[in-house]
Amino acid sequence: MTEKLAIEARNVVKAFGAGETAVRALDDVSVGIRQGEFFTLLGPSGCGKTTLLRLIAGFEMPTDGLILLDGQDITYLPPNKRPVNTVFQSYALFPHLTVAQNVAFGLEMLGKPKAEVKATTDRMLALVKLEALAGRKTSQLSGGQQQRVALARALAPQPKVLLLDEPLSALDLKLRKEMQIELKRLQTETGITFVFVTHDQEEALTMSDRIGVMSAGKLQQVGSPRDIYTRPVNRFVASFIGETNFIPARREGNGLRLGEGHVIPLPAGMSPPEGRALTLTVRPEQVRLCDAAEPEALPATVTSLVYFGTDTHCHMVLKDGTEMVARLQSPADGLSGLEQGQAVSFRFAPGAVQVLED
Ligand code: ATP
Repeated sequence: MTEKLAIEARNVVKAFGAGETAVRALDDVSVGIRQGEFFTLLGPSGCGKTTLLRLIAGFEMPTDGLILLDGQDITYLPPNKRPVNTVFQSYALFPHLTVAQNVAFGLEMLGKPKAEVKATTDRMLALVKLEALAGRKTSQLSGGQQQRVALARALAPQPKVLLLDEPLSALDLKLRKEMQIELKRLQTETGITFVFVTHDQEEALTMSDRIGVMSAGKLQQVGSPRDIYTRPVNRFVASFIGETNFIPARREGNGLRLGEGHVIPLPAGMSPPEGRALTLTVRPEQVRLCDAAEPEALPATVTSLVYFGTDTHCHMVLKDGTEMVARLQSPADGLSGLEQGQAVSFRFAPGAVQVLED
């Protein structure tokens, strides 16, 4: 992966309809997708993910803004003139053709010589591990196999960018997990830039080099899975990805007062304004029970304990009514001998607290 951009959206606006029924599907979206990266657009239904993908593919034109590919303006270039291919959720295979004929189809349309079509088709079938089924009609394949054919067909013309619109959502959970690993392998082996759309946060975290989190037509945050999980910028990103705690706070000098309670030291590198109501977020696995005598210990009462096998969720309430959850795994986390109603003390792992923008 390089820092060079494969795709850039600059101040893209896409409005559908007019007047009172107008929908702003994309509201001033700017993002750079790097060459050779696995980039995921993540967000709830209706947030504008597919619309952005369709603008990159050329199926739609923006109301305002630009789309660039390798630095060239392609905003109004027709789809077939773009070195971009799309894999849809509904595979869109030809049922009367064989696996190999489906993969070869796009290459033949491009007028490639017969020998090249055959060589590329064989290579693509090997890449998706379908050589043994080359002669079978696609109507006689399982969902996972059809998905592989769709991928091989889309990769065959060697596009610079492959767009994938929820390609795994029709598969059952087990197959979906297998295909996640498979897709990541395909992307690494081919080095092609993948732009993947999903509303599944786990899928996004496990597969992507970077994620763009979207909500209501706006890009909320772009970063590595780790950035997005550990350093969410706002309440939407923090709650859409994983479980988290929100704690009202206020800055006091070099500390943060939690609710009406204790003051904890200001997290390193953060300088929120004084006097304004703030929200902190901290992941449940970063909350540990501790001795009341520890300097950063905060008092709480256990409201319930829920056993999950790998860990136990300890729900607590602070004096000011703020509810918290800690994910405890071992006696070292303070798990042993805990019971409902017990007065406890907890603290946050160093560096685990994030001050949100809203
Ligand atoms: P999903 O995960 O459900 O596919 P999405 O995040 O991909 O959702 P989009 O399909 O991009 O969302 O839609 C964004 C918004 O634009 C939605 O409110 C949708 O109803 C609207 N929209 C999309 N296409 C059109 C269209 N052709 N005409 C009118 N409104 C549209």
